[in-house]
Amino acid sequence: MVEKDPRVRFAPSPTGMLHIGGARTAIYNWAFARTMGGTFVLRIEDTDPTRSTEENTQIILRALRWLGLDWDEGPEVGGACGPYFQTQRTETYQAALDKMKASGRAYPCFCTKDELDAKRAKAEAEEGGYAGYDGTCRCLSAEEAQARIEAGEPHVWRLKVPADHGPIEFDDAVYGHMSFPADVMDDMIIQRTDGTFTYNFAVVCDDANMGITHVIRGDDHLSNTPRQILIYEACGFTVPTFAHLPMILGPDGHKLSKRHGATSVEEYRDRGYLPEAMVNFLALIGWSLDGETTIIPEDVLCQSFTLDRINRKDGVFDETKLEWMNGVYIREMDADAWVEAATPWLAQAYVDGVQAPAGAHIVPTPSKEEQAETARQAHAPGEGVVAERWQKALAHVADNPELFRAIFPLISERLVRFDEIPAKLAYFFWGPNVQLDEKSVQKVLLKEGAQADRALHLCREVLSSIEGDWDEDAAMEACKAKGEAVGLKPKQLFQPLRVAVTGNMVSPPLFESIKLMSMDDVMARIDGTLSAVFGGSLDD
Ligand code: GLU
Repeated sequence: MVEKDPRVRFAPSPTGMLHIGGARTAIYNWAFARTMGGTFVLRIEDTDPTRSTEENTQIILRALRWLGLDWDEGPEVGGACGPYFQTQRTETYQAALDKMKASGRAYPCFCTKDELDAKRAKAEAEEGGYAGYDGTCRCLSAEEAQARIEAGEPHVWRLKVPADHGPIEFDDAVYGHMSFPADVMDDMIIQRTDGTFTYNFAVVCDDANMGITHVIRGDDHLSNTPRQILIYEACGFTVPTFAHLPMILGPDGHKLSKRHGATSVEEYRDRGYLPEAMVNFLALIGWSLDGETTIIPEDVLCQSFTLDRINRKDGVFDETKLEWMNGVYIREMDADAWVEAATPWLAQAYVDGVQAPAGAHIVPTPSKEEQAETARQAHAPGEGVVAERWQKALAHVADNPELFRAIFPLISERLVRFDEIPAKLAYFFWGPNVQLDEKSVQKVLLKEGAQADRALHLCREVLSSIEGDWDEDAAMEACKAKGEAVGLKPKQLFQPLRVAVTGNMVSPPLFESIKLMSMDDVMARIDGTLSAVFGGSLDD
């Protein structure tokens, strides 16, 4: 049973990008808060001075916003339990420590690093090995400790784990009942010699002071939990419910890492995945609605997320499934939303199109690897494009909304990522500079007996006679009829026309594409192809 108004938090350390695993943790916290009518707190754990940066904090906030995970309390929105940056909460940690000192639950330790290292080395060489701090300073009298502090002797503060503490037990919402022997927990440091507080102590103070009721986090923190429970107890704080999330594995069964490719949310954004698809996909790595539903829009997720449906087994990050899901979300978009979301990639298609070398050219067919590389380069669209040209391209998209809206149904059926857009759509902007794919030229235009040049002439004649408003089907029928009269089958007509207009034998629908171009443009493409491939027209 979940009590009323749960408070949960996502507590990233701003030491890098927002990773896939962190994003999933954030999604679960957010969806849980939304489902339960609770509060989602964002806390920045920026206590590592060497690795935490303001820039990384901004990157994480941006990624969370892009995913649509709005927080109720935290940076930029504030809240009653702020500040929401650990570096600004030192006083609260000091206050908690002072209480522990007063109740005798913490003691100063004057053992030097050298002494501790020597003890550790000795213990490790002996049977049984090192079992943590040996408690030398635990037994100092209060007077002696105070005198040494006043004499300015450097010291840390340690938690005094009660000698008779039984096993540390808790019911994890995912893993069930957990029990850890307390006698293997040494008296951990809570405040260092330089006055800074240790990670476990700060997390507990923050969670308690922020009224967090459910700690939902990666199971890499599971080993911290018994230690944190000891701190809750020592401070007299209420222990929250813990839910530890299983790992995310790559397709090879190893923990997801850079070796598997992109691992940060922004990399997926830059490859043209939709935030809605990312959230849906990540939510399902380790959680299920009913064991079978795969498309779970945000509103459903935010009404149905429960901790008891989190899987104990590690989840697998399957990018093929993500691509499929992204395609589903793309097809559900309306054309306006698509143009808006795809604008950078549409602008890139425009840039690539207008930059095509002058005149019709036969260009080598890219290998699969080269195609993947092109898509990778389309990663952060606009990068490397001179600012002015890029602005023009963006303006072109903005100024021609009908064109781009009309293009959407031509490619939405097969599109799985937006970074495919530049390669798929650059042809719209070539004008006469048609880039003829070499393989398509060989297989379609130069195939023995194809009579492609005749077919192109024939189509040119029919299309050039079209006036005013015209209809794709009627134009196609007219070409077909002409072709039939001279013994050319539809395929013999339209495949060459497709290559001449789009540069490739595989393309979005041909006549729909033609319809979106000016007839002069189409004529110029046919003429360019005829001269580049056949060295002139039939009449020469
Ligand atoms: N700051 C920790 C991390 O980024 C999370 C701590 C927690 O969730 O308890 O891994």
